Amino acid sequence: MEIRYSSEAEAYRLKIREILKNNLPADWKGIGALDEEAREKFAEDWKKVLHVNGLLAVNWPKEFGGGGLSFIERVILNEELTKAGAELDDVKLALGVNQLGPTLMAVGTQEQREYFLPRILSGEHQWCQGYSEPNSGSDLAGLAASAYRDGDEWVINGQKIWTSEAHTANWIYLLVRTDAEAPKHEGVTFMLVDMNQPGVEVRKVVNICGSHDFNEVFFTDARTPHKYVVGEVNKGWSVSTVLLSEERGNDPTQRGIIHRAQLDALVEVARQRGVTNDSVMRQRLVRAHTDVEIMRWIGLKMLSDALNDRPTGPEGSLFKIMWSQYHQRLTNLAMDIIGIESTTPWGMKPANFFIDLPGAPFSTRSWMWSFLAARSDTIRGGTGEIQRNIVGERVLGLPKEVRMDKGPWNQTLR
Ligand SMILES: Cc1cc2nc3c(=O)[nH]c(=O)nc-3n(C[C@H](O)[C@H](O)[C@H](O)COP(=O)(O)OP(=O)(O)OC[C@H]3O[C@@H](n4cnc5c(N)ncnc54)[C@H](O)[C@@H]3O)c2cc1C
Repeated sequence: MEIRYSSEAEAYRLKIREILKNNLPADWKGIGALDEEAREKFAEDWKKVLHVNGLLAVNWPKEFGGGGLSFIERVILNEELTKAGAELDDVKLALGVNQLGPTLMAVGTQEQREYFLPRILSGEHQWCQGYSEPNSGSDLAGLAASAYRDGDEWVINGQKIWTSEAHTANWIYLLVRTDAEAPKHEGVTFMLVDMNQPGVEVRKVVNICGSHDFNEVFFTDARTPHKYVVGEVNKGWSVSTVLLSEERGNDPTQRGIIHRAQLDALVEVARQRGVTNDSVMRQRLVRAHTDVEIMRWIGLKMLSDALNDRPTGPEGSLFKIMWSQYHQRLTNLAMDIIGIESTTPWGMKPANFFIDLPGAPFSTRSWMWSFLAARSDTIRGGTGEIQRNIVGERVLGLPKEVRMDKGPWNQTLR
């Protein structure tokens, strides 16, 4: 069996390469090579270039301002943008263009589509995701932030946490409890909330890298009109499932490219540091190579499923387990290769911390950054334990996990 893209897809790839060649600066090294200010400016300008060329929301239908192209074209586009170090799939854009936008197209009202979709594309609305709470992360359905109806509006109270980019966003999509009596998955509603109002307060949380990427968000009698409820009241869980499927199945082949670039860079560091004769280091580098190849193949399997309208299924969880653990192993290895220097106190983030983007220069500091940042990989987007539970139950056919709140020991203890 030969696995390759169709000739139409490859023709599209050439077209993308041409657009990139004509629009990126001649001395372009990659977005990761820019400092923070230059990167912001580039992102703003580049977004317009992509939009003009129909590449910003490439597989949104044309009627909603997208490119009207198919999933495979989007995958090819992402591959080429990633290789060129010119991808814009940062949290802000990803949430609006890749997740909320398609969700509104699938289950939003016509009015919501007409109002929100153009503002997602223009960047006027920057979105963040208000799901996790201090006492509900993995067990998301246990969320406590609530809303009650007051005429044509909903009044929201409670707290969200780990909300990435809430400090730069002006809109948040929320899961809130709207029926305290209903079973926990059934009394939850998905709503869109303007953050520019007195009842919404964002407090920063500094992460392990010393950087401000996520936040706590507090709601005190915050309001949103009823027309901004997505789907039905108390049926928000199914809306969040639609959104989650957009979040998970997006870019099956992109990770293989990113991890390959990072591994190649580490092999180079190993050469420079003279450790390529060290038998343990060699074993670990080759294991990393093997992992990257496996991820590339799983990515292609997921792509094939997506193109054939097969649900991603547990491969999504396998993939998450693979790349998150791999990334931690690789950056552990980087620290061992760099040696004593990697323990230098650094106190601030390096100028070029987008080490995972091809084109970013690799320095000791950026490897340190990546090492620290990789700790969150097995937590965000569904923890490793949760993914293993999914694989255990759905692939290995293990019995459903025994829940602490339902397990037999509860009865024993009582
Ligand atoms: C970098 C980063 C960005 C994030 N951005 C956002 C965001 O933008 N919006 C948002 O809403 N959330 C965000 N999150 C939150 C993220 O979704 C949660 O951290 C994640 O779902 C885990 O929830 P928790 O932190 O409450 O941990 P918990 O669910 O409390 O888990 C604690 C530990 O217990 C384990 N555990 C829990 N349940 C089980 C079980 N049933 N079986 C076995 N082990 C279990 C977990 O695996 C974990 O090790 C972000 C997190 C990170 C790290």
